[in-house]
Amino acid sequence: MLHKKGSPVCRNNFVLVVFDSCRYDSFVRARPRNIKRLGKIEKRWSYATWTSPSHYNLLSGLMPHTSPKHVYASEYYQKDFLRFNERLGCDNIEFRSLVPRMYLPAFLHDSLGYRTQAKVSLPVLNPRTLLNTGFDSYRLMEKHNDMRAMVREMRFSEEQKSFFILNVGETHYPYALPDEPPEQWPRISGVHGVFKHMDDRVVGGKMLTKSKEKLFDNKKMEELRSRQVEAVKYLDNVVEELFDTVPDDTYITITADHGELFGEEGYFGHGPVQHEKVLEVPFVEGKLR
Ligand SMILES: [Zn+2]
Repeated sequence: MLHKKGSPVCRNNFVLVVFDSCRYDSFVRARPRNIKRLGKIEKRWSYATWTSPSHYNLLSGLMPHTSPKHVYASEYYQKDFLRFNERLGCDNIEFRSLVPRMYLPAFLHDSLGYRTQAKVSLPVLNPRTLLNTGFDSYRLMEKHNDMRAMVREMRFSEEQKSFFILNVGETHYPYALPDEPPEQWPRISGVHGVFKHMDDRVVGGKMLTKSKEKLFDNKKMEELRSRQVEAVKYLDNVVEELFDTVPDDTYITITADHGELFGEEGYFGHGPVQHEKVLEVPFVEGKLR
């Protein structure tokens, strides 16, 4: 059966959930039992170390990679992209389907007739950015850390399949849950004012003072790491609400845009960081019913 424009009719809604900054080992340490219902939790690698390029990459249809050896990149892309047949419930999608725009929302919207919706938490992804292409709706949420608010406003249609991308901020510094008062958020010297401004200053880096003295101690870093783990535990319950919200035939992918450094080799955060932990992300996907 073909779509009226001659494209395949897809059987699935597709929801892509991105836990911002969620490092693979934080995710595993949280033992998310609801999320595990989707499938095996894989360790994968992000193509980029910070939010904007990583989301661009995800929206190009390239999920975090498996770092395969003895294979050309072009072969990997083509093979990886075939996974969209399973995600969308289609039969004849291939990498070249995306040419020339190379942008998943535009392809889903224009060629496959999807209703495309983005709900984002981080101001660097705001609706005025170039990422907002091919979307029917694109919203920067009021709070940077409230996935539940996103789930509660998700609407699906019987006539038209939906694609959602949810950029989730609870796992981003300061790893705060929506009901935690900002006065109680942990503060790191030199890192503040993040969410009121466009520049997402918490992109990390090697944090040393001029005297080469460390700005933070291991105890503080461990506390921050625990907060990220707690955020994942909390989100696991919100994901259960997501599972209850989505119709049958919804395929869900949960991953992160990049990892996070918690003091390893003097690094905190993400962005201008060259360290394997900034690329390690969780990846899990599947269909519940
Ligand atoms: Zn990010």
